[in-house]
Amino acid sequence: MYGLFGGMFGGMYMMQAQMAAGRAETAAAKSQSRTTRMATEIRMLTERLDKLILVNMALWSLVQEKTGLTEKDLEDRVEQIDLEDGVADGKVTRTVSECPNCGRRVSARHKRCLFCGNKKIGSTSLDQV
Ligand SMILES: [Zn+2]
Repeated sequence: MYGLFGGMFGGMYMMQAQMAAGRAETAAAKSQSRTTRMATEIRMLTERLDKLILVNMALWSLVQEKTGLTEKDLEDRVEQIDLEDGVADGKVTRTVSECPNCGRRVSARHKRCLFCGNKKIGSTSLDQV
């Protein structure tokens, strides 16, 4: 009797252990899948960034060639725009902009004003990127 009882518990324990192992394998597979997806996204973003750098370099060389603007002009403008958000950190930090239609303050990353629905929140086409 004790042997049968012990065997039942042993069997239940084995079943629980197998179920736990199955859940762990599923979690590991999901994690692996997510890692693969993230690696693909990073590769695609890197390719887009490389392309953007190339296009920027081409644009800048054309602008220099056609207008006579200098590297100093570009550096000064980069510094000026960098400082527009109040911090000289080498990047543009979008905070809040004023809706040109209703005048309310809205996060610059929104494509539409949350109050009046006006489409253009940012002042330049790059504000929508
Ligand atoms: Zn508005």
